[in-house]
Order: sequence, then C-alpha cells, then structure tokens
Amino acid sequence: MTHPWRSEISLSLWALFIALWIGWLQESWLVPLWLFIAVLLARHIYFTYRLLAWLRTETNQPPDGNGVWEEIFHRLRLMRRRHQRRKRRLMKMLKRFRQATEALPDATVVLTKEFEIDWFNKAAGRMLGLKPIDLGMRIDNLIRQPMFVSYLHKGNFRHPISISAPHNENIRLEVRIVPFTGNQYLLIAQDVTQIQMLERQRRDFVANVSHELRTPVTVIRGYLENLLDQETSVDPALRPTLTRMEEQLQRLQYLVDDLLYLSRLETTPQGAKPRPVNVGDLLTDICREMESVPEPHASIHLQIDSQAKLLGEKQELRSAFENLITNAVKYTPASGKITVHWFETSHGACLEVSDTGEGIPQQHLARITERFYRVPETENRNPTGTGLGLAIVKHVLNRHEGHLSIKSQLGKGSSFRCYFPDARVIKEPMELEQTTPEA
Ligand code: ADP
Repeated sequence: MTHPWRSEISLSLWALFIALWIGWLQESWLVPLWLFIAVLLARHIYFTYRLLAWLRTETNQPPDGNGVWEEIFHRLRLMRRRHQRRKRRLMKMLKRFRQATEALPDATVVLTKEFEIDWFNKAAGRMLGLKPIDLGMRIDNLIRQPMFVSYLHKGNFRHPISISAPHNENIRLEVRIVPFTGNQYLLIAQDVTQIQMLERQRRDFVANVSHELRTPVTVIRGYLENLLDQETSVDPALRPTLTRMEEQLQRLQYLVDDLLYLSRLETTPQGAKPRPVNVGDLLTDICREMESVPEPHASIHLQIDSQAKLLGEKQELRSAFENLITNAVKYTPASGKITVHWFETSHGACLEVSDTGEGIPQQHLARITERFYRVPETENRNPTGTGLGLAIVKHVLNRHEGHLSIKSQLGKGSSFRCYFPDARVIKEPMELEQTTPEA
C-alpha cells in the first residue's frame, strides 16, 4: 500500500479507536459511531472546499492537507505547473509565429470556413485595406470584385488569381487561398504590379522589335530575290553567297513572324465567345496541304475517331496543329510514317501527332517547349527551325485550357499529345461513313 493510503487508514483507525473508547466509557456505541462518521465526512468536505477554492485561483501553492489529500494536492500542483509551462511555451511559439507573419511582405488573412476574417497581418491591412473592425466580416463583403467573389465561391483554389487592390486600381495583386486545418483558409495576396509591369515591357519590346524588323527584312529579301532572278546581272562567283544570304534572310523572316505571332498570343485577350471548331475538317485540311509539298517526306496517316468539336479560335488551333505536323515532317525521314489521330478521352478529347522519326533525347524533353530551345543535334540538321514552334503550341493550348504531353524515344520516334478538357469539347455521335482513316 502506498504512503498516502497508509496514513489515511491510520488516521481513520485512530478516529475509530477514539470513538470506540468513548463508546466504551459511556456504554453507548451509537452516538460515538455517528460522531466518527460525521468527523470523517466533515474532513472530506473541508478539503474538497479548499481544493475548489484553490482551483479557482491562479496561485501555484496548494492548500496543506493530510492523508490522501496531501497527495492529491501535491499531484494537482505538479499538473498545474506542467500545464502552465506548456501554455507559456505555446504562447511563445504563437507570438513568434505572429511576429513572423506580421513581418511578411505578403498580405496574410486567416478565414473561417464561412470565409469570415479571423486574423490578418499588417500587410493585409495595407494591401487589402482591412481594419480591426472588419474582424468577423465575410471577406467577399470587403473585396467585392466579381472575379474574386466567383473564385471564392467556386472553391477551386489550385491556381491563384490576379485582381486589382480594392482601394487602388493601379496595384495588381496575386491572390491565393490555401485550405488548412480542415475548416479554415489562409488567404495570401502578393503585390505583383512590378513583375507584371516588367513582363508587359518585355512583351512590348519583343513585339516592337519584331514589328520594326519585319519591313526591312521583307524589303532586303525582295531585292535579293530580284537579283538572283536576273541571270546576267549577278557575277556567278557571287551567286552562292547571295543564295546563302537569301536563306538566312528567310530564316530571319520566319523568326520575326513567329515572334510576332507569339507576342500577339500573349497580348490579345481571348475572345469572349469561343466558336466550335470542327477539328476533323481542320486536320484534313492541314494534312492535305502537307501532302502537297513537292519535297519527299514521310507518309501522313490521318485517323479521325471522333466528331467532337473544340470550342476555341480556329486560326490559333490551326497554327498549333500545323506546327506539330510540320515538326513531324521535318524530323522524320521520307521512309518514315506520321500518324495524326483525333479521339475522345474520358476527360475530353485529344490530338496525337506521332512519328517514327529521329526522336528527342530524354534530357531535352522538359525544355523543348521553351522559346528558342532546340535540341543541339537537330540544330545543324534543320537550320530553318526557329525554336519557337512548340512555344506557340504550348501557348495556344494554354489559351484553350489544354495541355501538351510529349513522349519520345531516340531513334524510334516521338508522340505529341494535345489534351483538351470536357469544358472545351462538344461531343457528337460518330457518323461511320465520315471516318477518314487516311489522308
Ligand atoms: P523548331 O523550329 O526548331 O522545330 P520547335 O519549337 O518546333 O522549334 O521544336 C523545338 C525542338 O524540338 C526542335 O528543334 C527539335 O529538336 C525538337 N522536336 C520538335 N518536334 C520534333 C519531332 N517530331 N521529332 C524530333 N524532334 C522534334
């Protein structure tokens, strides 16, 4: 038996012994026994009262007790001390966390599951115009821009959105919402005015330079062509040089055209109402044009397995698909085979352009959609390339909510897949007689 219980029992036995002794002296047992029980009860009530009084205070020092009560007070005191230490540690951590978030240059707002403001840092006050009085208010009552309100209500927070600051139209904010602890949200807003301005300047610069270069390049090329057309006026020794100059000028012209097209894609907003594009017809058209090229090239097989139409810009889609098919033709030997396949998937539709060409080394796959990125080995084999074709494809797909997937095996061939989501696809039942197995 532990020490507190031993002293508790010995205390009780002493009291009982005294009661029995009084009973023996008085030759009556009932009153002393009742007295014994009353004393025991009174003692426990007294200590319970003191315990409660102590629990209501914040002091560390518990009341003195004896028997089991001494042990109870002691244990409770240890528990309270541990609890206070943990609380102090948590408070310190919380303070540090708050100081860190206060120091963040980005606006940070903690939202409840009903999007009510629970807490916000100084930057949020500055950038979003929040005041302490706004605590508990719904965030969409304070930031009322339709884009933000619909972002909040859609509940798809995978990508950030860009809005202007509520109190200053000239400040652009990138807003991201991150769910945390199951039923709360963290709203983070970053000032991207400077970044967007630099990006716009870069785009304008590229567009202006390309635009300014276009005319001189066309004029010089025109003169060169004229010179080369006149058999007698050019010294035969100069002819190869002029031919090379003409080739390089043609390359420069492709480059300028592609750059201009890319900047147009970047700067022009998408049409508010995308039109349904008959992809089958579009691909048939492109493949027919490719087939009519006089130079020997790989055979092109067109397989239309879906009547699905794509909601988008026909010209943009044409340029993306043309780029992929032209690449397949460029990088596949004449003995090879190119397959252009349009089909439906469980999440939308897909165009696959595959070839049995030279393939792309794995280490370059992640980068070939970057502007001007060309696989070093192919640079010499195809000097006419600009390195902008796949960047255009990627951009067009982005504008159509699609994405590009590339697979390739060196020496065996490549496959470029353009996936389009359900929202962009109008699926129609397939008419069997319209299936075009080959172009
Ligand atoms: P380019 O004008 O050089 O073709 P792209 O952006 O269209 O530029 O392509 C980038 C690079 O990707 C090309 O230089 C080439 O090395 C590689 N590439 C693209 N398509 C194919 C393909 N079908 N087969 C092999 N390599 C390819």
